[in-house]
Amino acid sequence: MSELNLILLGPPGAGKGTQAARLRKDFDLAYIATGELLRHHVDQATELGKEASSYMDAGKLVPDPLVIAMILSKVEDEGDDGFLLDGFPRNDAQADALAEELDGLGRRLTAALYVAAPDDVVVERLSGRRQCANGHIQHVTFDPPKVDNMCDLCGRPLKQRKDDMPEVVQKRLATYHEQTEALIDYYEDKGLLRRFDGTRSPTEVHDHIRATLATLRLEERL
Ligand code: AMP
Repeated sequence: MSELNLILLGPPGAGKGTQAARLRKDFDLAYIATGELLRHHVDQATELGKEASSYMDAGKLVPDPLVIAMILSKVEDEGDDGFLLDGFPRNDAQADALAEELDGLGRRLTAALYVAAPDDVVVERLSGRRQCANGHIQHVTFDPPKVDNMCDLCGRPLKQRKDDMPEVVQKRLATYHEQTEALIDYYEDKGLLRRFDGTRSPTEVHDHIRATLATLRLEERL
């Protein structure tokens, strides 16, 4: 089976994390989620975490040198049999750094999976999102917990991420439009972009992505 080297693109709240969880199960890929890794550093109060937290709380991008080094070493260490990048790259410099790294390893991207969703949908999703310490996600309206503020899966308290507060959500969206959205053209120009409608149900988006990946693999064999 040919290796799948994938990136997930799209605004915060488009459902990239949800799709990533499903794709990992389908294809047994190394899942490298920049935001998750950074939040872990913040929780552990590492040097990187201390430097990153002020940017994250403000909805800004953490400076490239910190993020690029962290992600590329993960790709090298864990991504041998294929990887799924979530939240990276987020600007041209990061995309170039990834391309250079893969070139050096004699590998290439299979596809950039772009999960699209308009701002109003994203704002509604993020402002109601709640997460437990195990990373399970629920939503106050779309997937309300059976017991108030407690995770249905593990019973731990559900909390709102600091950066899901309304003012920060607006800033994160602005950052996305200013710096990340241009990557859609970047990957389209390389023939790697595949679009998905993130306003559809998670199962519909997942089915569509799987069908697309199956086609890509078939084409590769021809
Ligand atoms: P996420 O969980 O992907 O929404 O990321 C949460 C926050 O982590 C973002 O708002 C940024 O502050 C930071 N972050 C995540 N990925 C990157 C990246 N590729 N480059 C810079 N900062 C990032």
